[in-house]
Amino acid sequence: MKKALVIGGGIAGPVTAMALQKAGWEPVVYEAYRDAAAEQIGAYLTVAVNGLAALAEIDAHHVVMNTGHATDTLSFYTSGDKLITDLPIGGTLPDGTVTHSVKRRDLYRALNAEAVRRGIRYEFGKRLVDAQETADGGVVAMFADGTRAEADLLVGADGIHSRTREILDPNAPKAHYLGIYGLGGFVTDPGLRAELGVRPGAYGMIFGKKAFFGYLVAPDGEIWWFANMPGAQELSKQTLAETTPAQWRERLVRLLEADRGPAARIVAATPDATFVPGFNQYDMPSVSTWHNDTMVIVGDAAHAVASSSGQGVSMAVEDAVTLALCLRDLPDTASALAEFERRRRDRVERVVAHGAETSGDKAQHGLARVLVRLLTPFFLKRAAKQGIGSLNWMFDHRISWSDNTTPQPVTVEK
Ligand SMILES: Cc1cc2nc3c(=O)[nH]c(=O)nc-3n(C[C@H](O)[C@H](O)[C@H](O)COP(=O)(O)OP(=O)(O)OC[C@H]3O[C@@H](n4cnc5c(N)ncnc54)[C@H](O)[C@@H]3O)c2cc1C
Repeated sequence: MKKALVIGGGIAGPVTAMALQKAGWEPVVYEAYRDAAAEQIGAYLTVAVNGLAALAEIDAHHVVMNTGHATDTLSFYTSGDKLITDLPIGGTLPDGTVTHSVKRRDLYRALNAEAVRRGIRYEFGKRLVDAQETADGGVVAMFADGTRAEADLLVGADGIHSRTREILDPNAPKAHYLGIYGLGGFVTDPGLRAELGVRPGAYGMIFGKKAFFGYLVAPDGEIWWFANMPGAQELSKQTLAETTPAQWRERLVRLLEADRGPAARIVAATPDATFVPGFNQYDMPSVSTWHNDTMVIVGDAAHAVASSSGQGVSMAVEDAVTLALCLRDLPDTASALAEFERRRRDRVERVVAHGAETSGDKAQHGLARVLVRLLTPFFLKRAAKQGIGSLNWMFDHRISWSDNTTPQPVTVEK
């Protein structure tokens, strides 16, 4: 059985490992931290229907469904608290499944636990520092603790600051800071909840004057929220570690007080323990090298979209399943990796391009407009402008485990 080293136990890592196992490979996951969810930032994630459909191909969609809850509608509000419109998020799968929202930490833990349940081996505390092809056509990985591991393939699922990407191409671009801090939190406050207009399953999305704010009420009544606020400077690790939830709360409340809706009160009511402090937000310029003959990058390592797109998880999952299908169907690893890139690059670049649309707006608008536009998830703007149907290409993408559309090599009889 062929062996794969999967670097990273985030989203793309466990899903790639499960998909490779289904394709007949033996994967081992190497995660830098002691706990797969240890360093994960952000409050919660939206897993779109295209991502859920891809997960269903490896029977893992139930992990999301059991851990999160349905969120099928976006309700847009002005800074004056006026409802602009309601729009569905990405349609419904034939079995009735819709887009789901999941706490970030819960999703990481659940996907990795599912991979372990399927017998996939994990090694924690293994930070990849280098890798190279071996003389016999395999690959050897070197870890910060001095250990090594050999296999037929190395999959870099090591996120937006990927080391694998640099190993493949020392000149590869680095993550690009967007000029935005993200924050989030969870609060249980029955009084406040009773005042909120949104129904279960709907996101309230507020185009604030100085910050963008999104929130929902989970089935158990807990309020989940996230915010994007401007931040000229990328914050250092030290500053991020030293800034307290109370300082972030005060700063964000001040920005949100410019609006009439519930945002400032939700943030003010969020206790330190469930406050997700600010973090830098990034996207990735186009990465030209995704693979060589024995190493490949997937997920954010290859093509991080702006976090506001709501497609990062789904792109990582689609990558994972597509890669496994290519390795299942093509006769050798090198051609499978080339085929993987052929199938994925146009699609992910189209999703990424939507995220980049905001930068083109900078020159055309006054500063305040630019700010709100930068803070506003691109897909919301597009949906609000053109109707959700304009995004069908994104949500309707399907990958089928039963298809083998790859042309097989033709044997010529002599
Ligand atoms: C605030 C925020 C909100 C977001 N909201 C959404 C959303 O609503 N919907 C959505 O679809 N996407 C969202 N995204 C994007 C989404 O989180 C990512 O696209 C997704 O996590 C990518 O998964 P990944 O496995 O590629 O990378 P990651 O989740 O970053 O996982 C990478 C893993 O690799 C490990 N690692 C890193 N370096 C090494 C190394 N050298 N050796 C070993 N292990 C290593 C890390 O510790 C980590 O566990 C959001 C992102 C952010 C930041």
